Amino acid sequence: MEPSVTAIAMAPAARIFPAMAKHSIVLIPGDGIGPEVSSAARRVLDAAGLSAEWIEVPAGATALEQGHDNVLPAVTLDAIRRHRIALKGPVTTPVGKGFKSVNVQLRQKLNLFAAVRPVRTMAGVKTRFDNVDMVIIRENTEGLYTGIEAEITPGVVTSLKVATEAACTRIARFAFRYAVQRQRRKVTAFHKANIMKMTDGMFIACAKAVHEKEFPQVQYEERIIDAGCMKIVQDPTQFDVLLMENLYGDLVSDLCAGLVGGLGVSPGANIGEEYAVFEAVHGSAPDIAGQNKANPLAMIISGVMMLNHIGETAIAEKIKSAYNAILAEGKNVTYDLGGKLGTREFADALIARL
Ligand code: NAD
Repeated sequence: MEPSVTAIAMAPAARIFPAMAKHSIVLIPGDGIGPEVSSAARRVLDAAGLSAEWIEVPAGATALEQGHDNVLPAVTLDAIRRHRIALKGPVTTPVGKGFKSVNVQLRQKLNLFAAVRPVRTMAGVKTRFDNVDMVIIRENTEGLYTGIEAEITPGVVTSLKVATEAACTRIARFAFRYAVQRQRRKVTAFHKANIMKMTDGMFIACAKAVHEKEFPQVQYEERIIDAGCMKIVQDPTQFDVLLMENLYGDLVSDLCAGLVGGLGVSPGANIGEEYAVFEAVHGSAPDIAGQNKANPLAMIISGVMMLNHIGETAIAEKIKSAYNAILAEGKNVTYDLGGKLGTREFADALIARL
């Protein structure tokens, strides 16, 4: 998995983050396995030489436990607005208590419109396919995740899918620019415009327009999402940059994680024009929470993506070389990858390798 893929397709990181002696980074430990994997990631980044002041703030169930009246407290939003960069553990939004998802709120309120999720096979991690190298670019702010739902009459509820020309164009431009900057050959838009003719129709119309007017040099294709998913599991190596709206991106991210070793190794970033929040694809995994069993690598690689974003590429490379070496040997890995190490012990092994 190539962490440097997030050295952002928007603007050169160095322009946003001039070289500085000490970075201020917001850390949201999160819920479930979140505190375990984020503590491991923080230790690894610090040990690799990152000079950072970590500003720890809560979100999710933890925020409520700490006495806040919202799963995304003002203190957390303010901290990200002030420092602009966050490393976030997974969170649990209590269901049925009237709270809107923390992740949806965070992405909408901070306008983190692009989720960037690299999917790449890594030496030593047993998978069905070799040479998988894709990046999912997911629209993060609209689609069915606007949360506009209503009971129109007892027994009948609706969920509104929203697509705007502005957001569809913005994410398409992000994906093509990303492809150009990363020397990637092709952008594939996944859609269901045969059924959702207006919303998904607009999504692909915008992608096509951006391709033709601004990036004709990048190959562009469209796939109806059901057939596209079949093609991904048959042969993921035929894909490169995958562009999709919010819900599809959520689902296909986990599908693709399964092709390269699972959620324990699948990192991600949420990027906007002003802020960036880095987080693993996985959730809070309540089934293994508090047991020192979670693989912290997805969170660590998300941290490496963050390092590239803030211009700390040498530290990023150091961490990447260390985990690649450990994975290639295949011994000192966590349970999900067939090893025996716990979350903390894996972080220790990685630190020893730096
Ligand atoms: P999940 O990703 O938490 O877990 C799915 C499966 O993968 C579980 O078996 C889990 O043990 C395993 N897994 C996940 N991360 C792992 C890791 N690092 N190492 C080893 N195994 C790992 O998905 P879920 O169970 O559907 O969701 C649990 C909670 O997480 C829900 O409340 C959901 O809303 C939330 N969630 C949060 C985020 C986020 O904050 N970004 C993302 C997805 C889900």
